[in-house]
Amino acid sequence: MVTASLGHREGASIFVFTIYPLPFTIYYLPLMTAPNIETIVSLAKRRGFVFPSSEIYGGLGSAWDYGPLGVELCNNVKQAWWRWMVYERDDIEGLDSSIILNRLVWKYSGHEDTFSDPLVDCRECKTRLRADKLEMADNVYAGIEVDQDDSQNFLEKITFAIRRKSYKCPNCGSTDLTDPRPFNLMFRTHVGAASEEDDSSLVYLRPETAQGIFINFANVLTTSRRKLPFGIAQIGKSFRNEVTPGNFIFRTREFEQMEMEYFVRPGEDESAHQDWIDACQNWFTSLGITSTNLRLYEQPKEELAHYAKRTVDIQYRFFPERPEDERQWDELMGIANRTDFDLRTHSKKPEDAEAKRLNPDSTDDLSYFDEAAKERFYPYVIEPAAGVNRTVLAVLMDAYTEKTNDKGEKRVILKLHPDLAPIKVAVLPLAKNKPEIVTLAKSIKQSLQPHLRAVYDDTGGIGKLYARQDEIGTPFCVTVDHESLQDDAVTVRDRDTWEQERIKVADLQEYLLKRLKT
Ligand code: ATP
Repeated sequence: MVTASLGHREGASIFVFTIYPLPFTIYYLPLMTAPNIETIVSLAKRRGFVFPSSEIYGGLGSAWDYGPLGVELCNNVKQAWWRWMVYERDDIEGLDSSIILNRLVWKYSGHEDTFSDPLVDCRECKTRLRADKLEMADNVYAGIEVDQDDSQNFLEKITFAIRRKSYKCPNCGSTDLTDPRPFNLMFRTHVGAASEEDDSSLVYLRPETAQGIFINFANVLTTSRRKLPFGIAQIGKSFRNEVTPGNFIFRTREFEQMEMEYFVRPGEDESAHQDWIDACQNWFTSLGITSTNLRLYEQPKEELAHYAKRTVDIQYRFFPERPEDERQWDELMGIANRTDFDLRTHSKKPEDAEAKRLNPDSTDDLSYFDEAAKERFYPYVIEPAAGVNRTVLAVLMDAYTEKTNDKGEKRVILKLHPDLAPIKVAVLPLAKNKPEIVTLAKSIKQSLQPHLRAVYDDTGGIGKLYARQDEIGTPFCVTVDHESLQDDAVTVRDRDTWEQERIKVADLQEYLLKRLKT
């Protein structure tokens, strides 16, 4: 027996065949999960999930527009997150804060000073690069890595390494690189009719939704009469002038975040943090993402943000095509223990050793008074922060499946979780030139629509219509045929198994709703 395995990787057999002694039998295991992001880019454009933005004017680097199916998928991801975070728990409130906040928010949060990437220019090809994303050069200095133990000196150390030519430009391979310099990622704009030179009108587009939550801590606490522990959840757009955006919707300059700040007593932060790490991992698998395509990454000390005590990322295997396992993974979500940094920094009370207020601009104190213990303190914060767009990408990659039909033709099936599928059921007439069939099919679609997202489609033969719905992840197709006019029944076809069942029209809604929940 000869067994050959081409491109096999953990959790996803790309193409495996086994040859027995005569007669030859070839077994194809279906392709499970997308082989690379490009496969999803092409599916997304072909079927109307995501389009390159401003395409008719030559596009705008790394900006994407969500089409008819993409907007539904994004909404379903956000709804699933909100349901899980806010509705199914008893300790979380929702919020929708402004995108443009008082500039002082970003001064005291530390973003004005520290929200930057180290920027390097390649003198050869003029590409702008992130110093922490450079490639090792192929010269005698290769392998002499920057020692990142002391984060204070990271910039100095990488400068030394660049001057020593240890690194090369990933675009042209040149080692002729400039010294790194900090590049602030916040987009700047001006409010009101003031001139662009007038610094008093300067504001930023928010680079994270979290600060809108911290500055509303006291408002939510008082109005909702909450006691610790409790959380505030928010979904919204964030903006970062990324130096190297790319990989489709993985890294863009405008994106959407789903963030929750969970406030706890100091001392209870470590166990709350661990609980949220476990809960978030479970949430992703509950969306149907294969657990072998998820892993935890503990941020080392030198990578931690200035406010963080511990941060664990949930990573997804976004780059399965890369030969080295380590390079296949990247961040899907970050779960940080932000300590009491944020509430303290936005409060008017804290003082330094000389009794000087650390924040002379704030008009409020964001501390918490514990009635039972009769003590006042600044709560610690656990922050699970995920990107909507990265979740959509992970969900699409993970749902992508190829299957061969009995005619030997390759079919793409998007095995989306029913809650996420943009369309839950497609109603298809077997003969579009038969008015009674068309009328019945359209009326079935109308009756289902208030209960689940349904579409009617008669723009092709039944095989083509099934294939189209499989490719966009519709869990069920309902076919109305000649017999339906006699027996008041329709054929329901399952996306994943292609099995068909005859169901009475009167029972159809209940049947579909039940199957969509299992
Ligand atoms: P990265 O290291 O990839 O730049 P980050 O650690 O800066 O991400 P966070 O500040 O922790 O990201 O933001 C929380 C989440 O927001 C990320 O896990 C990611 O899903 C999403 N996100 C952050 N930046 C972007 C971006 N430029 N485009 C799309 N999603 C993003």
